[in-house]
Amino acid sequence: MDDDWICGRLGEDEPWVLGAVNPPVYENSVFTFETAEELGEAIKNEDERYVYWRGTNPTVDLAQRKLAALERGERAKCFGSGMGAISATISSLVSAGDHVLVLGAVYGPTTQFLRYLEKFGVTHTHVEDLAQCDSAIRGSTRLLYFESPSYMAYQVVDIAGITAWAREHGLVTVMDNTWSTPLFQKPLTMGVDLVVHSLSKYIGGHSDLVGGVVVGPARLVRPLALTEYQLYGAAMSPHDAAKVIKGLRTLPVRMAAHQERGLAVAAFLNDHPGVRAVNHPGLPSHPGHAVALRQMSGFSSLFSVELDTESREKVAAFLDKLRYFRIGVSWGGFESLVNAPALSTEESVRATMGIPVGLVRLSVGLEPADTLIKDLGLALEGLVA
Ligand code: PLP
Repeated sequence: MDDDWICGRLGEDEPWVLGAVNPPVYENSVFTFETAEELGEAIKNEDERYVYWRGTNPTVDLAQRKLAALERGERAKCFGSGMGAISATISSLVSAGDHVLVLGAVYGPTTQFLRYLEKFGVTHTHVEDLAQCDSAIRGSTRLLYFESPSYMAYQVVDIAGITAWAREHGLVTVMDNTWSTPLFQKPLTMGVDLVVHSLSKYIGGHSDLVGGVVVGPARLVRPLALTEYQLYGAAMSPHDAAKVIKGLRTLPVRMAAHQERGLAVAAFLNDHPGVRAVNHPGLPSHPGHAVALRQMSGFSSLFSVELDTESREKVAAFLDKLRYFRIGVSWGGFESLVNAPALSTEESVRATMGIPVGLVRLSVGLEPADTLIKDLGLALEGLVA
């Protein structure tokens, strides 16, 4: 089964769809049964049977089947946000006294959640590479968590290498694959145990949805669907599932366009005298490019650049001058967005975290590359002068 078919058609030939080109949205919180016994049986399998919205729903189920197939996983569970999926997944894998290894830079709130878990006796250590993993691992380490490419820095992790090491040491691996989407990278096929995504980015694609998903073997996804999903209550609504299904229909074409435009913009910035560095794994000059080519079949359009300045004012002026790139925190939508983390971080915190003043994150949308390049060129003029 190819990814285009999965995105556009998988699961849509079932009788309940009635041949509709867009499957109906089951907009109800509760399902009823002929007998009390039937209800009792359904409750035991609430991850698969339709009982109550906070368990699952046919529309959510269809989105889950497509996402599981795209990641080549056995099961998927959709959540009301990416953080809902991440916090439920981590919680399901650790107990008091356990230790987590975090490899490379990960999404800020994921680290915040790991810090929050300290009050329940779960600790974590950040490491940068395999050698540091070797020295940081403890008898109590249960889980290795990472993103590839990594958050903000877009460094590439050798996925097969790290999962082989984790397996040797009896660790479960969880990887956030939001950057690549399942179209460009399939971590489960490289030994990762569970993949998480924010569906709020490329998969939704229209900046009108917040959602998340975890994908992997039933033996890991089922327990968390029955426990953390139900108890934390970050349930996905059928309306949002319908948006996921719609987003998937155009994901292959959108990702091809994002890739092409993102690379064109990155190449322009790479040659610009006002830019010190471009962190885009699709550029041949990127240190992780060779590994990226081995494990990814394409590149999305989110990357960071370091402007050649130490002045917060100049960075702010650059952002303010942009007309097509809008200033905002999210990414992966049709619209180009820009964000400078140093400007929203206290100076002392910025310095400890090692965020360069000139670091700017760009999410290249679906506007023509020439238009975006012109926009960036004009905004950079003041910086170079
Ligand atoms: N993972 C990554 C890499 C993200 O960038 C984000 C959000 O920005 C999340 C997870 C969290 O997703 P959500 O905002 O849907 O909770």
